[in-house]
Amino acid sequence: MMRLHRCLPGLLILLLWIGCSPAPQPVTRNTTQMQMGTLVSIVTWELTVQPDQWREQEARIVGDAFREMARVESIMSSHKNATPVQHVNAGPRGTLQPIPSELAGLLRTGLEITRLSNGAFDMGLQPLTSLWGFSRDDPASHLPDIAQLNTLVEQHHAGGLTLTGDTEGEYRIRLDHAGTGLDLGAIAKGYAIDQAAQVLDRAGVRNYIITAGGDMRMAGAKGNRSWRVGIQHPREPAMVMAVVEPHATLAMATSGDYERFFIQDGIRYHHILDPKTGWPARSGIIAVSVQAPNNALADALSTTLFVLGAEAGLALLEKFPGCEAYLVLEDGTHKKTAGFVGQRLDPPQKKVQ
Ligand code: AMP
Ligand code: MG
Repeated sequence: MMRLHRCLPGLLILLLWIGCSPAPQPVTRNTTQMQMGTLVSIVTWELTVQPDQWREQEARIVGDAFREMARVESIMSSHKNATPVQHVNAGPRGTLQPIPSELAGLLRTGLEITRLSNGAFDMGLQPLTSLWGFSRDDPASHLPDIAQLNTLVEQHHAGGLTLTGDTEGEYRIRLDHAGTGLDLGAIAKGYAIDQAAQVLDRAGVRNYIITAGGDMRMAGAKGNRSWRVGIQHPREPAMVMAVVEPHATLAMATSGDYERFFIQDGIRYHHILDPKTGWPARSGIIAVSVQAPNNALADALSTTLFVLGAEAGLALLEKFPGCEAYLVLEDGTHKKTAGFVGQRLDPPQKKVQ
């Protein structure tokens, strides 16, 4: 009894303190910047008793994540001036040229996909993608010069990239033909997201979505609700055809013929090229989303599946553990691998911003 009496004041102070401390508040923040030729946004969610302090901290960390993506772009872009990629493209053909190890690492990942896809994924298409002009500031609206296109296609050979690296970490690349130049447009955005996610993870941000064009990474949740993200309908831009509500970190990329395209004489020409023909790929797929253990892989594989088509694409996917896909075909059918996280919305629903 004596003991309880002595403890009572302490207990009272504790109860009073708990009673006075502010209740935790959910804070959602959304920061958007133009990067890598597209709108990139980072949304975070946190439950905190110090919202103002969190907002300041979050702004600093998210700023670091954006700076990291800009750093990746300053290595991997073929459009930006003075990047190592641009340097290689401006250099001689048939000669080994030094490149930074980070670029070599991403090229190695990509070249493995090139090998396994029999050249459907090709990071050497820059002369052709530049002639088609879908990534220009004033994107192409009509067919390129066909004679020029045929010459480039003749010069371009799949496998025209040779990467070497010695034990001292000296990496070099050789572009074998005039029709070959580096364009990492199908993998670098995913890699940039991976790097930005590392910045957020290391700084202790637990709940976020990073979106860059068709690529996205989701981590954590919004309290006791999962993140909920829609996949755009390929023919109805204001509609969502499927929703993804992950229970764990998820990397996903979508490639489609509706992202960058023009229509001439009733035919749709888009930005994903079949390396064998030099023309926009017509495989029967009009949109494909791939989920993978990281965003670089998701990005590269979504482009590859688009080029390969449903049958060869799904066969390729089996060589990549932990990768899943959702395909929409020209005839309107949808196909989904068993482990794809997400549900079709039938009928499609209006997008909510
Ligand atoms: P994505 O939007 O991720 O499917 O990537 C398309 C971009 O990758 C294009 O804008 C080109 O820069 C480049 N690209 C086009 N066709 C291919 C291809 N067959 N393999 C690799 N990259 C490609
Ligand atoms: Mg891609």
